[in-house]
Amino acid sequence: LDAVTKVYGEQPPVPALRGVSFSVGRGELVAIVGPSGSGKSTLLHVIGTLERPSSGVVRIGGADAARLTDRELSLLRAREIGFVFQQFFLAEHATVRENVADGLLYAGVRAAERYRLADEALERVGLSDRATFKPNKISGGQRQRVAIARALVGRPAIVLADEPTGNLDSTTGASIMALIHELNAAGSTIIMITHDAGLADQLPRRIRLLDGRVVSDTGDGERP
Ligand code: ATP
Ligand code: MG
Repeated sequence: LDAVTKVYGEQPPVPALRGVSFSVGRGELVAIVGPSGSGKSTLLHVIGTLERPSSGVVRIGGADAARLTDRELSLLRAREIGFVFQQFFLAEHATVRENVADGLLYAGVRAAERYRLADEALERVGLSDRATFKPNKISGGQRQRVAIARALVGRPAIVLADEPTGNLDSTTGASIMALIHELNAAGSTIIMITHDAGLADQLPRRIRLLDGRVVSDTGDGERP
């Protein structure tokens, strides 16, 4: 990111990001921390090309996101990026397996292969026995794991996770973190938001936001 700003709305304008620059190298595991309202989710949405920045440049694998067509962007998101949203956005009418398989809907993968990969992802998050359940019949931590399975089902190069361990008891949170480390060890670049200072301290790099600005960037990651 190079001097990225994001202003929401017009009256009144809400500046959510005020000139954010940093780069994340392939294979890094980075925590984004900062108080509520500091711009963390906005930053993740901009990195994931779900929101366009108001100014500044977002480059993914060298490509300027602003120069890609909508179709190129949606393919990039479908094939290279896995999202875990703060509100998991599970489809309540669909089963757990369908929710995970839907992570591949826009990636040009045939249905049979989508379900095979979904079962594999569910096994990785320890939810094989809940595949045929609807999301409202499983626990909050299990819903979180479904959201993670959906994000990783396409083995994306980049995983963007908004509070993947929020609202979880410490045991379940630890198992989600183990999963995240595993994904990272397998080569995924991971950028995750967390409120949990203890958890962030265990990660190799922490970027701290305050009022839409980066106030610190620690760890052994590459610097711009
Ligand atoms: P939290 O820790 O509570 O999730 P956050 O750091 O993720 O907070 P953001 O959601 O990025 O914060 O919000 C940053 C600022 O932008 C806040 O002032 C918020 O009210 C505002 N904001 C976020 N989304 C929108 C939107 N869609 N429209 C208008 N303002 C928004
Ligand atoms: Mg947020």
